[in-house]
Amino acid sequence: DSPTDVVLDVDSLEKHFGGITAVDGASFGIERGEFTGLIGPNGAGKSTTFNCIAGTLSPSAGTVTFDDTDVTGMEPYQVANQGLVRTFQIARELSEMTVLENLMLAPPGQEGEKLWKAVTPGVRSGVVDQEYDVRERAWEMLEFFDIDHLAREQAGNLSGGQRKLLELARALMTEPEMLLLDEPFAGVNPTLQNKLVEHLHDLIDDGYTVLIVEHDMDVIMNNCERVIVMHQGQILADGTPADIKGDERVIDAYLGG
Ligand code: ADP
Ligand code: MG
Repeated sequence: DSPTDVVLDVDSLEKHFGGITAVDGASFGIERGEFTGLIGPNGAGKSTTFNCIAGTLSPSAGTVTFDDTDVTGMEPYQVANQGLVRTFQIARELSEMTVLENLMLAPPGQEGEKLWKAVTPGVRSGVVDQEYDVRERAWEMLEFFDIDHLAREQAGNLSGGQRKLLELARALMTEPEMLLLDEPFAGVNPTLQNKLVEHLHDLIDDGYTVLIVEHDMDVIMNNCERVIVMHQGQILADGTPADIKGDERVIDAYLGG
């Protein structure tokens, strides 16, 4: 893949909630295989942008194109079917199930078995024995994230960091091309945060594209290859961490709130 291979293209995105403009004409492209951070002060419109991309919200205007497919306004499971998935917090009702069961359930954002079938790796690769494939993929993910020893543990008993790993593992069950993470480090202690970051680098090494939305700019600056800064619903800056660090407008946006 060439270094200018755009996998996700967001064009003139707008989202209004009544009289509130949360996203105000945001445009950016994400290159395949890159680790990109989307940062900005509280209320900048990061989560709304993310939700419009993942299908959790329908944009008021603009387009979202993934892998040359127009996914604007699609449902989350449809977007996931295209290979673009977001993480979801483990719901309370899933806390009583084991880690392995959580992975083998219908993936987050999906509803019911029919949709699950539509996105299973087995179906994609033409393998008939679907249940076997799901179990195998689940163990693969457990091993990848070093949580295979927790397979039989109730999800509710996991630490904050282990839970974040499970959320990541769940999102990866369907072998997506691109992963969207909204504040994956919230409430995670520094040791586990470093471990999570290492896993994200492993995913990048494996060819995944990762877009991470984060309030704390330091973790993004230290790890991402590219940083997009939002402020008041608009893209304020877009470049390497070095570009962004030296940008007066970014400093002003954070200081001014
Ligand atoms: P960020 O994730 O960057 O902190 P958000 O996307 O959550 O920002 O919010 C952007 C703006 O949109 C804020 O002013 C927020 O209050 C507003 N907003 C977000 N979601 C809603 C909603 N469902 N209804 C009304 N206003 C909202
Ligand atoms: Mg947010």
